[in-house]
Amino acid sequence: MKFATKAIHEGVSPDPATGAIMTPIYQTSTYVQEGVGNHKGYEYSRTLNPTRHALEKNLAAIENGNFGACFASGLAAIDCVIKMLNPGDEVISTNDLYGGSYRIFKTIFEKYGLVFHFVDMTDVHHIREKVNANTKMIWVETPTNPMMNIIDIAAVAEIAQSVGALLCVDNTFATPYLQSPLDLGADIVMHSVTKYLGGHSDVIMGALVTKNEKIAQEIYRIQNSSGAVAGPMDSFLVLRGIKTLHLRMERHSENGEKIAHFLAKHPKVEQVYWPGFPDHPNHLVAAKQMRGFGGMISFTLKGNRLEDALRVVERVNLFALAESLGGVESLIGHPATMTHASIPKEEREKSGVVDSLIRLSVGIEAVEDLLEDLENALG
Ligand SMILES: *Cc1c(COP(=O)(O)O)cnc(C)c1O
Repeated sequence: MKFATKAIHEGVSPDPATGAIMTPIYQTSTYVQEGVGNHKGYEYSRTLNPTRHALEKNLAAIENGNFGACFASGLAAIDCVIKMLNPGDEVISTNDLYGGSYRIFKTIFEKYGLVFHFVDMTDVHHIREKVNANTKMIWVETPTNPMMNIIDIAAVAEIAQSVGALLCVDNTFATPYLQSPLDLGADIVMHSVTKYLGGHSDVIMGALVTKNEKIAQEIYRIQNSSGAVAGPMDSFLVLRGIKTLHLRMERHSENGEKIAHFLAKHPKVEQVYWPGFPDHPNHLVAAKQMRGFGGMISFTLKGNRLEDALRVVERVNLFALAESLGGVESLIGHPATMTHASIPKEEREKSGVVDSLIRLSVGIEAVEDLLEDLENALG
């Protein structure tokens, strides 16, 4: 079945009780049992809820996996993955990493005896250098935030398999429409569903998908034991969002490409970070493992002045100044003072987050209006 058909049909079927074509919001904590242990597959909504279950099956299908699990946030999904590990285990992670992932690794899990290494994975030799007998997981985020670096998932999967470590890929930026990590050898795909999958900036949610039944059982055990599950109302909203994921991603990518080219030619712009450009350092890997380049773009201004960047993000009208990404509406952000403000200037500049860096989450509005907005703000 093709992606668009799966997005609309997988996991969902008309409600057996009423024929309702849309999966109802089963806003219930518990389920009546006809006799002890005699029930219809649902006992308690932390363990399983029909609305969440439909979404979990849908997500598994669009990620080309067999099992899905939905959580109260992307970070709750990450929390579940790391809880599969034991004290002394080591994780090798991308250095250019979502700030919240870095925070949970360093400030929550390190004190339980887990060891995290952060390396530049655009060159996979850096991973081989850190691998040892305790390496139990490799954590990849690609494209990275906000520098839009691309990591070769298949090459990392080969390393992970050679040492028996699990490979988990945060697929939030690319979405299953543009990138299928499980087909490239990843064991687990993680999502901040909050972003493109939900797609309308109205839900906080996370998800995990795997092909492997043993890994799935461990995920479900932790999901049920730790309890950070997604609620039925939110699950309904995301089921609705995913029905248009393919259309949205097409337009995000189309608009993204036009805006990337506009920025590259603009006299006030120094550099544009977008993996679709042939001279992007990881363009070949992106072209190999992605089906499109998406709507996330970062750029810097000539002269690299903080006040110029702040003026641009404040002068836009259509682009909203906000954290987050992946909604239908365009957002603009200034990493140095927003998402990366807690990282010392020298540290963030090493990875490219300079004072004039601006990040765009290009929405699906008419691109002419977005271009005009940027032209006015830069002018
Ligand atoms: C937002 C985000 C997360 C965290 O997800 P939440 O839903 O905010 O908890 C993790 N990874 C990436 C790449 C993100 O953009």
